[in-house]
Amino acid sequence: MQKIANYINGALVPPNKSNYLDNYEPATGQVYAQIPDSSTEDVEHAYVAAKAAFPAWSTLSTDERSKILYRIASLIEENLESLAAAESKDNGKPEWLAKMVDIPRAASNFRFYSTAIQHYAAGAHAMSNKAINYTLRGAIGVVGCISPWNLPLYLFTWKIAPALAAGNCVVAKPSEVTPMTAFLLSQICIEAGLPAGVLNIVHGLGHSAGNAIVSHPNIKAISFTGGTQTGAQIAKIAAPMFKKLSLELGGKNPNIIFADCDYDKMLSTTLRSSFANQGQICLCGSRIFVERPLYERFKKDFVQRVAAMKVGDPLDKNSKLGAVVSKAHQEKVLSYVSLAKEEGGHVLCGGYAVHPEGRCKEGYFIAPTVIEGLEYDCRTNQEEIFGPVVTIMPFDTEQEVLEYANSVVYGLASTLWTSNISRATRMAQEIEAGIVWVNCWLLRDLRTPFGGVKASGVGREGGFHALDFFTEPKNVCIEY
Ligand code: NDP
Repeated sequence: MQKIANYINGALVPPNKSNYLDNYEPATGQVYAQIPDSSTEDVEHAYVAAKAAFPAWSTLSTDERSKILYRIASLIEENLESLAAAESKDNGKPEWLAKMVDIPRAASNFRFYSTAIQHYAAGAHAMSNKAINYTLRGAIGVVGCISPWNLPLYLFTWKIAPALAAGNCVVAKPSEVTPMTAFLLSQICIEAGLPAGVLNIVHGLGHSAGNAIVSHPNIKAISFTGGTQTGAQIAKIAAPMFKKLSLELGGKNPNIIFADCDYDKMLSTTLRSSFANQGQICLCGSRIFVERPLYERFKKDFVQRVAAMKVGDPLDKNSKLGAVVSKAHQEKVLSYVSLAKEEGGHVLCGGYAVHPEGRCKEGYFIAPTVIEGLEYDCRTNQEEIFGPVVTIMPFDTEQEVLEYANSVVYGLASTLWTSNISRATRMAQEIEAGIVWVNCWLLRDLRTPFGGVKASGVGREGGFHALDFFTEPKNVCIEY
């Protein structure tokens, strides 16, 4: 069985204590690899390597750093097929999706930041006839990056690329549930000539390896994407140590549909925004509010289209949904379907585990699920489910739907469907979310601020925002 390794000081190394964890293929329910169960000592080893690499990496010319990151982007593209196959096997997502979205986006993250750093500049402020202030932006030092399992390589690189571009050295931990493409990235970094110690990837559990990164006294910044509760735990440790913190957390996003929308575009996009990646994208719209005149038509068409979506082997090109990421997650998602029923919800389609014929019969599949008849403020409509489950609810007025949309503790993303530009502008202002998509979903420009408000996080990734996070500004004031 394959045993993957940590990537420390430019080499692939086993964990210090030789402890390993099983790695499951969600589509078959079988263990197929073993991953390091790294300890505090492994994280310390990684930190020491990163610290030693920092002086040379942070002073390397921007041009040289940029060239290496660009090379990593190209190698990710060259390895598209094998990376997509690995991502699909590790996570359960359809292979076509990994090929179309996850891996190309991981390459884009490196390419984007390899060029963004060339255009990054700090300001100057003249005080008339008196003095000039100029701001320096330097790398922080050794930083920590911790990422979740839903978009493994995509989100891992979204943190690592700007951290490295800005001149930091990194100790990173991917989710222990989906470590494989981070391991393959280590091999790519070696091939690309990334100097030893600049990036260190330590595999293992959140409460051991993750916690060791967060509580390390000399890892000066933590960029974390994951659940809100974990984010709160991390903040509790990192805040008293005065670390810089970027937290991208959970969501419970509204999808608001007005009767005057472009119906066909809305319907096909809503299928994606509800069930892409088995609904395991923090940006999926899991609460669908439909203006009453359109409600019955939408319900009929949507349920018909959802019921026809094929759930099955991620290797099958016709599978619209693959497996959810783990047995525990499958149970959690299905427990919310039971809760919805207890709360008076009516399941219009799905709501059960699927056992495909053949090699996937032991896999963790769930039929895409649509539920109606729930109040906006019940637990099913307030808590993050993070699976292929959506609720649909009618509304009558803008004011009413805004109240529903903003009633949750989260504020990550939202989607609005209307052809009335005044209404869209008005509502976009009022929705409590870091991202508002109008007549589209998941249309991403990497220059834009990305992140949430309320319990969905603190800070913004994307564009120069990430470079601001991964650098420390210093103002110099010269009187003349
Ligand atoms: P978790 O919070 O469970 O884990 C995220 C990462 O943190 C994993 O690598 C995990 O390791 C690690 N971790 C867990 N506990 C600790 C700890 N005490 N100290 C340090 N690290 C720790 O999230 P999931 O992996 O379950 O991901 C799903 C969540 O991520 C959802 O809530 C989703 O909304 C959110 N998310 C947010 C996004 C955003 O941009 N806002 C984007 C994508 C997902 P381990 O795997 O071992 O637990």
